[in-house]
Amino acid sequence: MIDSKTSTYCLLGSPISKSLSPHIHNTNFKYNDINAVYLSFDVKCLKSAVIGIKELGIKGFNITIPYKEDILKYLDEIDPLAKKIGAINTVKNVGGKLIGFNTDGLGFLESFKDKGIELKDKNILIIGSGGASRAISFALAGIDVKSITITNRNKDKALNLIEDIKKNYNHTNLYFIKKENIKDRYDIVINTTPIGMFPNTYDKPISTSIFSKKTIIYDIIYKPKETLFLRQAKEEGKLTINGLDMLLNQAILSEKIWMSENLKIYPFIFK
Ligand code: NAP
Repeated sequence: MIDSKTSTYCLLGSPISKSLSPHIHNTNFKYNDINAVYLSFDVKCLKSAVIGIKELGIKGFNITIPYKEDILKYLDEIDPLAKKIGAINTVKNVGGKLIGFNTDGLGFLESFKDKGIELKDKNILIIGSGGASRAISFALAGIDVKSITITNRNKDKALNLIEDIKKNYNHTNLYFIKKENIKDRYDIVINTTPIGMFPNTYDKPISTSIFSKKTIIYDIIYKPKETLFLRQAKEEGKLTINGLDMLLNQAILSEKIWMSENLKIYPFIFK
């Protein structure tokens, strides 16, 4: 029941029409009996949207492509981890003061916990070095995995990311590798590029046949649920993980920041 006491939360981005966030949050608000609604806004001018958020008293929001970095200049406070990552996906409005967080990396780690997979002893290859890759690689460095190797079209961007991680976690084994030099020496391979995402579902970032059957293949894309990258790996008998668990976990972590650590989580099943 929407009434005068209903709290509003929302997603800001562009495009946002395919986002699953309204479904996830509204379902979980209802499950927890919280009088709140979650909307999505296709935003063309972020500055105006932020003014609107404050004026309307919107209590929190998520931020997605292309504004995860642009939002930084409108925030009053930034969580230390989000500051290191340099990108924000969650903002809490505390009486007009906007505080930024990044739950993508921790949401990614949670998806392994859910499956009982230990990450500490793993050699990990990350394809891409954009915002999601930054969140994931900082999270992995924070739990001291065996090694992180990054490959990216733009080499300088990958090297910058490696430097930024080293400043914060100097004990982590970090490497850059050119795509053509990738060999079978990774326990987990993660695609953080949009290659293979709807509508370009015919494409994949790399062939999974390079890797042994033991290698876990993770694609953070969730539209489609099974990318060509994952389909090939599955056909080769490898364990595959799609982006839905990460999406769900980062959303729940946002809700915990906005509301309470003790929220229940609706048993979502995505078809
Ligand atoms: P981003 O900041 O724009 O970064 C994109 C990365 O992909 C960059 O490293 C870019 O390389 C690379 N890339 C893009 N197109 C490429 C191409 N054609 N060939 C080679 N490399 C290419 O984007 P993002 O925010 O990190 O998001 C990336 C993907 O992750 C999207 O599909 C998004 O939907 C997904 N995502 C999923 C979740 C989840 O919860 N499951 C959360 C966040 C993001 P250059 O540096 O060379 O340009």
